[in-house]
Amino acid sequence: MSVERTFVAIKPDGVERGLIGEIIGRFEKRGLKLVGLKLMKLSPEKAQEHYGEHKGKPFFDGLVSFITSGPIVAMVWEGNGAITLARNVIGATNPNAAAPGSIRGDLAVNIGRNVVHGSDGPESAKREISIFFADSEILPEWPRSIDKWVSE
Ligand code: UDP
Ligand code: MG
Repeated sequence: MSVERTFVAIKPDGVERGLIGEIIGRFEKRGLKLVGLKLMKLSPEKAQEHYGEHKGKPFFDGLVSFITSGPIVAMVWEGNGAITLARNVIGATNPNAAAPGSIRGDLAVNIGRNVVHGSDGPESAKREISIFFADSEILPEWPRSIDKWVSE
């Protein structure tokens, strides 16, 4: 499994509900490494670009207005197989179907308020990271003393 980087965001509902620490803690505890972090308010243009694949779907306009309605926490997490791993930590899109133990399975009940976003593959990870972060805002290399206890 190769080292990957993935884009994760705590959506405005997660921020408003005081879940920033809880959500970041789940990725930290799993062993992923935080290499980019930013509290920000998303512009409608960037929101439309980020969710471009959903343009034209019935939930698109509501999704864009929701994601721009308050601050979000944008993050880049790194690790072996980080993209799939983060999706598993997050859980299924609809919290009603999300496994207990996942973020959505433990902290959310509604598909339109599912508290967190995660890239769904290598291409979207690359694309989404570049929408939210300049190269200079991501740590190029950050050896942690615990790395050898997380991956052999
Ligand atoms: N969404 C929604 N209604 C739907 C499908 C999706 O409100 O019927 C929202 C939901 O917040 C979801 C986001 O649109 O997280 C993006 O949808 P996607 O299928 O990409 O799910 P994700 O990758 O976030 O699990
Ligand atoms: Mg998606």
